[in-house]
Amino acid sequence: MTTTNRAACVIGWPVEHSRSPLIHNYWLKQYSIAGEYRRELVPREEFAAFVKSLAARGYVGANVTVPHKEAALALSQPDERARAVGAVNTLWLDDGALRSTNTDVEGFLDNLDACARGWDRNLSKAVVLGAGGAARAVIYGLLARGAERIIVFNRTLGRAETLRRRFGTRVDAVGWDQLDATLGDAALLVNTTTLGMQGQPALAVNIAQLPSEAVVADLVYAPVRTPLLAAANARNLRTADGLGMLLHQAVRGFALWFGKMPTVTAELRALVEADLGASPRQTAG
Ligand code: NAP
Repeated sequence: MTTTNRAACVIGWPVEHSRSPLIHNYWLKQYSIAGEYRRELVPREEFAAFVKSLAARGYVGANVTVPHKEAALALSQPDERARAVGAVNTLWLDDGALRSTNTDVEGFLDNLDACARGWDRNLSKAVVLGAGGAARAVIYGLLARGAERIIVFNRTLGRAETLRRRFGTRVDAVGWDQLDATLGDAALLVNTTTLGMQGQPALAVNIAQLPSEAVVADLVYAPVRTPLLAAANARNLRTADGLGMLLHQAVRGFALWFGKMPTVTAELRALVEADLGASPRQTAG
């Protein structure tokens, strides 16, 4: 057992749904680190004061979830990717400075690398459903991996068009009615909407047109096996699920706070999956 006694937390409103304590406390135990990871229920109006008092509260850093991800950007020193995505999910104290990043980007990419090796070898066209915060992280990651074209479909077309302006000419915004026709030559399909989540409407997409080498990713993790992933599996397409992304996005925060790069194991995955099965409530991030 090491002697460090560091603490980190997840700050949200609500916060009880967060699986981050389960993940980080599993790793703390696994690596015999004398640390702690807690939930902090903080309303919007108290968020700035809470973040400014992180050190005084004994924290070395924190995760940030709904509705604070944009506010956290303004209150910290974000890295390039957090600035580009426009949202922060990880904060850490660095020699008195409060620094921040967005680990959804690497969570998405690392999970795909783990589940569908070589998925980015020929990214001529990727289709992204949704245009919210998670879509921004996904698009940033896909551009970094060399996607030549990213077509964004969103219920509110104007929000997808905003992403085209934000990320440049490799991104296109298209009306939902053209989705089926667009899938015929897509290398990757990613759902970043809340559709298909327990308690939310179904995601109406017909993946029959997707090429047989296409990869399908869903950010929704409750249920873990979404109808979209089940349809992709039925076609023998390679898939990457939202639970895998959730686990991979936690890696860097743990390393920053507790000084050990953790591994996403099958045991951890089974632990979180069982917890999701017991209480499947999910909110963004
Ligand atoms: P957000 O900013 O609120 O965006 C929600 C998106 O879903 C928007 O594009 C919205 O379209 C669309 N949407 C919502 N209800 C819809 C409906 N009834 N019909 C059509 N479209 C609808 O949320 P977010 O932060 O991007 O999160 C989106 C999803 O990603 C959530 O399920 C979240 O849990 C998941 N997520 C997972 C991870 C992970 O690690 N696995 C990480 C981050 C997020 P409009 O613009 O038209 O409203």
